[in-house]
Amino acid sequence: MRDWPLWTLRTPALCYWLVIDALALAVISYVIAASATPTPSEVGRFAAIAGTAGAVIIGSSIYSHRLRETERNPWAAHLCYLTAGICALPPNLLVLLLFGPALHCVLAQRPETYRWIFTLSATALAIFGTRYLIGWAHPMMEIGIMLCGAVVVLVIRAGLIALGLKLRRPSATFEENVGEPIDAVLGIVAVSLGGLMGCVVMNNPVHALIAAPSMALLERAAQLPQWRRSAQRDAKTGLANAVHWDSRARYELAKGRSRTRPMAVMLLDLDHFKRVNDEVGHLAGDAALGAIALLLSATVRRGDLVGRFGGEEFVVLLPEAEPDEAEGVAERVRQAVAALCVPTMATDGRPHELSGLTVSIGVATTERFGYELPDLLVAADAALLAAKGFGRNLVEMA
Ligand code: GH3
Ligand code: MG
Ligand code: MG
Repeated sequence: MRDWPLWTLRTPALCYWLVIDALALAVISYVIAASATPTPSEVGRFAAIAGTAGAVIIGSSIYSHRLRETERNPWAAHLCYLTAGICALPPNLLVLLLFGPALHCVLAQRPETYRWIFTLSATALAIFGTRYLIGWAHPMMEIGIMLCGAVVVLVIRAGLIALGLKLRRPSATFEENVGEPIDAVLGIVAVSLGGLMGCVVMNNPVHALIAAPSMALLERAAQLPQWRRSAQRDAKTGLANAVHWDSRARYELAKGRSRTRPMAVMLLDLDHFKRVNDEVGHLAGDAALGAIALLLSATVRRGDLVGRFGGEEFVVLLPEAEPDEAEGVAERVRQAVAALCVPTMATDGRPHELSGLTVSIGVATTERFGYELPDLLVAADAALLAAKGFGRNLVEMA
């Protein structure tokens, strides 16, 4: 228990996560203690919702396993049938439905169990909060109240989770805490489909099957943000990968050309990086690449495009940058890299503070080389080579 990753959380996050878990446990205990025995028709509805959702999620898990997917977001499907439960089941059977995500965590052997439990607790609080709002004993199935319930379940859940993530890592962006717009769309589809499922189940439990194909599609669609991220990002640094950077840079350059705005391309190559790998190890080298990617993103402006060009080479497109501004940015980056200290682990397993890294930078501007990306890259590469030739740790303008 002492080596649980939970204890590595910052104190405010740890307190908040434990409070959310404890509150969820208290609500669930109250619900179990206070609810009456379910009627046979309620049990029938439970079996229909749980059976349909179980079949869809197990089927999708097998498919995902065959595709060798390592990361998967199953929460859209869980939220869908839990919403059906809010509409159609008594609170104690709703508790039983929460075993779905819990079982999923155990069977899928999720690595960060404490994180899963926190998400499940926040979901449980959102679900019972919504149930309280729309009618604890008998939910009111009018459209206005159901719409209100849908908004409440999404907002409470997203709010509780976002606050937990913010406390865990205060530097996290709004998007990292709350999700992308597609996540909001997935949430809305999940609760809408869940609401419909709840309504049809009230008439005839067998009708739950109608929701199965849409739920299966929702489950697959929930993987879209993950697929897009892995297609566009470099896994090691989190930056745009070379292909994605290339297409975005061409788009920005075409925009810049049409408005004749000054732009620049900056090509960076770490100096003697092979030595880092040879002397401290490849994992330390990777940590340095990650730290430099973070530093680059933090040093340039919001609209600048940072990408990983190749092994230990990075590339930045600077829109709206006059040549002297571009040179200033490159100089700032060069100095920041030289001042960087990266905590890493050496090959002998001991902590090692990596410092003394330097970078050579070549800069090419649209003023001299025009708006064609290959021309700018060739010019920036030649300037970079010159910087290496002049002794490294330098900025060279093409
Ligand atoms: P120079 O100053 O001339 O650029 O010297 P250098 O050693 O940086 O240049 P070279 O091109 O000879 O070596 C680049 C090294 O970068 C070789 C490779 O081991 C390392 N490298 C490339 N990609 C990665 C990576 O993803 N992780 C790690 N750890 N090292 C990488
Ligand atoms: Mg290189
Ligand atoms: Mg190098």
